[in-house]
Amino acid sequence: MLDVHELSRRPGSMREVSLDLPAPEGFGTVIIGIPQDSELEIDVRLESVVEGVLVSGSVAGEAVGECGRCLDEVVYDIDNTFQELFYFPERAKAAKEEAEEDEVEIVELVDDEIDLEPLLRDSVVFALPFQPLCSPDCPGLCSECGVHLADEEGHSHEVLDPRWSTLQSMFNETKES
Ligand SMILES: [Zn+2]
Ligand SMILES: [Zn+2]
Repeated sequence: MLDVHELSRRPGSMREVSLDLPAPEGFGTVIIGIPQDSELEIDVRLESVVEGVLVSGSVAGEAVGECGRCLDEVVYDIDNTFQELFYFPERAKAAKEEAEEDEVEIVELVDDEIDLEPLLRDSVVFALPFQPLCSPDCPGLCSECGVHLADEEGHSHEVLDPRWSTLQSMFNETKES
């Protein structure tokens, strides 16, 4: 929580804060995210404007996940920006009426305090790769035996598993009858 009391009623005033914080829970998706308590580097700029307090900045950290093809651990450097205008309560009402048509969400300043967490979370989650890969051309795992294909050059299975051939012949019989 950032207290912006001294800023909030003086348009034009500005404050910059740099923070190193342990990552809260839930900064990620099921496949990749910033591990809880690992370090987040945050730079925040708070500007008092007529409508409220404009919060902008950047958040950086290290996301850990799983390669979508071979399941190896992957680490991504995340560095993204964020920006949000926190409206003064008395300004929020008018802004909400105006914004309704555009379906813009109006965030209200409550008790002169700003909760950065949702802002940071959105920014981090947005920057995460949709499908993490250990390398862009990761060949993944062998679909037959599960071996790590990147470590086994020329790996292949020539012989058809007997169980499969049985299935195959059953299939052919059904087709013929
Ligand atoms: Zn991989
Ligand atoms: Zn194999």
